[in-house]
Amino acid sequence: MPIRLLPPEVAGKIAAGEVVERPASVVKELVENSIDAGATDIRVEIREGGRRLIRVADNGCGIPAGELSLAFARHATSKLATAADLDRITTLGFRGEALASVAAVSQVTILTCPRQQETGQLLRVEGGQIAHQESHGSPPGTLVTVENLFYNMPVRLKFLRQPQTETGHIHDVVAHCALAYPQVRFSLLAEDRQIFQSTGNGSLYDVLITIYGLEVAEKMLEISKDEGPAGTGTSVASSPIVFGYAGIPALHRVDRGYISFFVNRRWVQDRSLVHAVEQAYHTLLPIGRHPLATIMIELNPGDVDVNVHPTKREVKFRDGRAAFSSVQRAIRHTLVTHTPVPGMIHSPRTWPAPDWERRQTLVASSQLTLTRQQLAMEMYRTADLGEELQVVGPVRLPLLRVIGQLGQTYIIAEGPQGMYLIDQHAAHERILYEQMMTSLSEQQVTSQQLLEPLILDLDPMLVGALADSHTLLNQAGFLIEPFGGASYLLRAVPSILTVPDIRAALVDILEMVRQEDDPLATQSEERLIAAICKRAAVKAGQSLSPDEMQQLVRQLEQCESPRTCPHGRPTVAHFPVEQLEKEFGRR
Ligand code: ADP
Ligand code: MG
Repeated sequence: MPIRLLPPEVAGKIAAGEVVERPASVVKELVENSIDAGATDIRVEIREGGRRLIRVADNGCGIPAGELSLAFARHATSKLATAADLDRITTLGFRGEALASVAAVSQVTILTCPRQQETGQLLRVEGGQIAHQESHGSPPGTLVTVENLFYNMPVRLKFLRQPQTETGHIHDVVAHCALAYPQVRFSLLAEDRQIFQSTGNGSLYDVLITIYGLEVAEKMLEISKDEGPAGTGTSVASSPIVFGYAGIPALHRVDRGYISFFVNRRWVQDRSLVHAVEQAYHTLLPIGRHPLATIMIELNPGDVDVNVHPTKREVKFRDGRAAFSSVQRAIRHTLVTHTPVPGMIHSPRTWPAPDWERRQTLVASSQLTLTRQQLAMEMYRTADLGEELQVVGPVRLPLLRVIGQLGQTYIIAEGPQGMYLIDQHAAHERILYEQMMTSLSEQQVTSQQLLEPLILDLDPMLVGALADSHTLLNQAGFLIEPFGGASYLLRAVPSILTVPDIRAALVDILEMVRQEDDPLATQSEERLIAAICKRAAVKAGQSLSPDEMQQLVRQLEQCESPRTCPHGRPTVAHFPVEQLEKEFGRR
């Protein structure tokens, strides 16, 4: 076939296909228009998952009669005028494409009336062609009705999912708009039944309650605006502002769908930001579980490009690293400082055991130099972790008395509120990990010179892994020098790495780092340290002397997050007094 220009209706349908994937895309575009029009009340109504009907009514500024038909032309917009405007977009829409796209694949009726005008205008568009326009009575605002979506695109129609599924996606869109605009009142009616309603009272927290329920919302911690870069003391004027809510570590889900980001109030998907959140929760959540978080990021419109994706669901930050670390820091800071102190309504049952009190005072006097943050954590120390306390995240361990070793794998210990089984490997990993992270941040990693340097011959994959993490390895206490080709000289190792076969240990570490390969360098530090600690920690099956066990338990007591190993597995299982009494029929 020769090359030729496509007829406009074909071109229109192709373009529409990019913007309008499914009914929820239509809802998103129409609601965004209502928000851009300054509406404070937006009502959405759908039938058959939006396929039969989508109707969005708003009380926004309306469209003047003379401009109405133009609104349906492709690239017609009131939101920008020059190319330079594209660099500082403050509205949700800007391409002038949505109405044209929706109208190309459905039957659209619009009734609109600008605020000061007496009567409104009614316009009907079918398959992209204007079919009818007339003056028509209307309240101020705009009412858009979209019927028979994809009636002229049979393939798209075939790919639509069950109406319930499409309704779910629409619910998601409306709910996220409500999160972004708590001062706007949203409602969603499906088949005449109200399935969502926000109050528009301006409170983000109230919207969270509406979406997730009170029980979940109560477990969300507020990330306040001034919490981001604190600690480093180097807050730059132009760095992004982060606020919102993040769930306590005990509130976790199987999928990442409960982490949402809004950039200048636009709901976006961003894999790197998801990493930032997960990194903030690093080692606090069990493996394979993900937190809940609603994260608002605000920055200068000139510092983010919103014009990079057909449905505007992705954005590009001018400084991606700044965005990443602002989010990561704000959440981490919130988690560490605001994890709620558990209410001690009923004190858990204790039993009389040797010297709790004496040890308690000993510890207290040896710890007068705690930082504020440590002090906050310290409040958990005297408390034990009955069921209630388990839900509050980084809980410290009580003082424990070691009784013995079980299967050369677990340490049995006694605490004020029962029996504890400690996984010696996981616990040691946690201890080493916190020690190393601290010395790394204070740049005081100690390393051990080898008597004779070791020559390492690495396979190409490991050479790559070594090259990638060379600087980090050195910071962590390794001294490795190139020795020609794939050979390296190992001169020193971190002093915690007291294993007999150093060569094998380094290969293991490189393999661990490579396996979890991830392009985000900021994360690799913690990963590398976790890998080193995994290799350096005592193994299951290693028998420990009473002194070694005692020391390990004492160190675990000092940890900030003693409950999990750096990979998220539990270090401690607790068997409360009550449970033991029940087991033996004493209650
Ligand atoms: P964009 O939002 O990118 O400008 P659209 O095709 O979505 O493009 O809308 C075209 C224009 O129609 C908008 O620029 C706006 O002027 C007008 N418009 C659309 N919907 C509304 C509405 N609900 N209220 C007021 N004006 C609207
Ligand atoms: Mg628009």
